[in-house]
Amino acid sequence: MKPVVAIDGPAGSGKGTLARMIASHFSFVYLDTGLLYRTVAFLNAPLTELKDIRKLLDITAKLTEEQLRSPENSARASDIAKNPEVRDIMTHLQRDFIQLYNEKGVVLDGRDIGTVVVPDACCKLFVTADLKERAKRRFADLKNENTTFDEVYNNMKLRDAQDKSRKIAPLTCDKTYIVIDTTGQSVQESFKICREEVKKAFVNSGYGSFV
Ligand code: C5P
Repeated sequence: MKPVVAIDGPAGSGKGTLARMIASHFSFVYLDTGLLYRTVAFLNAPLTELKDIRKLLDITAKLTEEQLRSPENSARASDIAKNPEVRDIMTHLQRDFIQLYNEKGVVLDGRDIGTVVVPDACCKLFVTADLKERAKRRFADLKNENTTFDEVYNNMKLRDAQDKSRKIAPLTCDKTYIVIDTTGQSVQESFKICREEVKKAFVNSGYGSFV
């Protein structure tokens, strides 16, 4: 079994960018679990169809950024993520993904990766940033003339509250996580900190050969 890096945090914290950079640095495979929730929200498909992680990834790859990341679909994703049946299926599919890439090493990012999906991951990062800065980043990414900054800010604030307060698998951080606050940092600065923390965790868990 190769190392698994679990990255959790709120929307717009930079966790996706950092997760991708970490995966690329260590030549690991990356899974954006939020995209899976977004795909399920967009499709509104019966849960019985969600059986195969490869199929779900294929469907995800065919959808556009606009379809998946619109404020409406973001809110829908956060809503369906409260459903215990959805969460249970998604947890299994994410574990299937880890098994599938067992020999390569995996980086996953989301809200409950280090608490529910892989609580024994050798490295757990909690990436966060101030709400206003996160909304600014997401607004800049969206490039959608129909969306205002206030809409993105309010949507994010609501999603934060929903993600933190839901009964099952809420977004939460405990002492098993290393907290990375990216407020006021460049991507490169945050990446350097994350990379060093991941290396330390690998060495401490007997995965020193990956450093
Ligand atoms: O990460 P992203 O913002 O794309 O995730 C969209 C939504 O999916 C989140 O607001 C959250 O409600 C849900 N989600 C989740 N658990 C995950 C990943 C995402 O509940 N592991």
